[in-house]
Amino acid sequence: MPASDRQWWRQTDQFEWFSNYLRERGMQQRWRWATFTFTVVLGALPLVMLASPLGPDTDLTRGVAIVSGAAGAGASLLWLSGWPSRTQSLVYNALCSGGIAMGCLALSNPYSGLMGCTLFAVIGGFLAYFHSVGQVAANFAVAAICATITAARLVTETGDVALTAAAAINVIALNTGVPFGIHSLVHSLHTDLRAADRDPLTGLLNRRAFYSAVNQLLADTHAVDAAFNVTVIDLDKFKSLNDTRGHAVGDAALVYVAEILHRHAGASAVSGRLGGEEFVVADVDLPVLQRRTADLIREGIAAGPFGITASLGICSARIAWEDSAAGGMSPDFLDKLIESADAAMYVSKRAGGDRVEHRRLDGADLADA
Ligand code: GH3
Ligand code: MG
Ligand code: MG
Repeated sequence: MPASDRQWWRQTDQFEWFSNYLRERGMQQRWRWATFTFTVVLGALPLVMLASPLGPDTDLTRGVAIVSGAAGAGASLLWLSGWPSRTQSLVYNALCSGGIAMGCLALSNPYSGLMGCTLFAVIGGFLAYFHSVGQVAANFAVAAICATITAARLVTETGDVALTAAAAINVIALNTGVPFGIHSLVHSLHTDLRAADRDPLTGLLNRRAFYSAVNQLLADTHAVDAAFNVTVIDLDKFKSLNDTRGHAVGDAALVYVAEILHRHAGASAVSGRLGGEEFVVADVDLPVLQRRTADLIREGIAAGPFGITASLGICSARIAWEDSAAGGMSPDFLDKLIESADAAMYVSKRAGGDRVEHRRLDGADLADA
């Protein structure tokens, strides 16, 4: 079992990536309506129980039941206008958890109150999808306190230890099994998704992940006077390295190239393996600095123990920061940049390889920039 799996319970909040996962698959709307409906129904339960002989039977408990219903109604509103923020989601869960506690404790019949504690499992499951194990445990603690109080009342009022134990086991099983099962699965999903973003040989991003990382890079950038640069790197006569020294040495050379990219591309740069022996680096930088980075990469590859060189092509473009911050770069535009960088790379290759060719998106030569 990988270390990351052994430590799934240590993982911090999952709100951002899981919300993003649902957004990318067009599932947020459905989740919002389902959560809203569930919460409205949840909030209605203590109010319905006002009419039951097993429900609240004093002014105080009736008041508590009404507050519980109001908590549910308030919590449901957080899902009406749009996808909540992480803080709003935590407020939602706290309102629900508190609402369920009040609703269960307000009932005059302790068996109903104890069985009502199974509802905490739904909130625990929700926390397990979006938040940390600590928050799941906090919800479980509230459930345990309510279950203990109602179980104590049940056994005192009826003397039925067996019924109380069976109901308590039911509550504990649901409140542990549901949330912790979900948390473990969601954690595995996250690990798999991250692994699927990477080329297993070099650890660089694959094409799809490269595109989404570029959009994240642009969203995080606020530079005004820089350009967006894409560098395509293709190894020269790589096939002959495979043919003469074997595929395993070829693999080692590809890993070495990935190390060179890590070493010389800036911390903010996004590096990927587009396929075979072709790599790509994207960064927001002055074109002249990107040119220097490309030279360092070229020299690093040539100085390695594999006797190989690379042809590099850079394409630089100014981009509208307002647009990039609002919606990211369109895949078509990024494709165009990669295509131009690729064309520049072929110019390097035709000129004998082990060179860098630099273009602007409009095709102008930036060699002397
Ligand atoms: P050029 O100078 O024109 O770029 O020639 P080249 O030999 O580098 O390019 P070509 O496209 O003819 O061959 C690419 C080779 O890369 C062929 C393929 O066997 C090899 N290759 C692709 N992926 C891998 C890999 O994962 N490991 C190894 N060892 N070789 C790979
Ligand atoms: Mg090649
Ligand atoms: Mg190639």
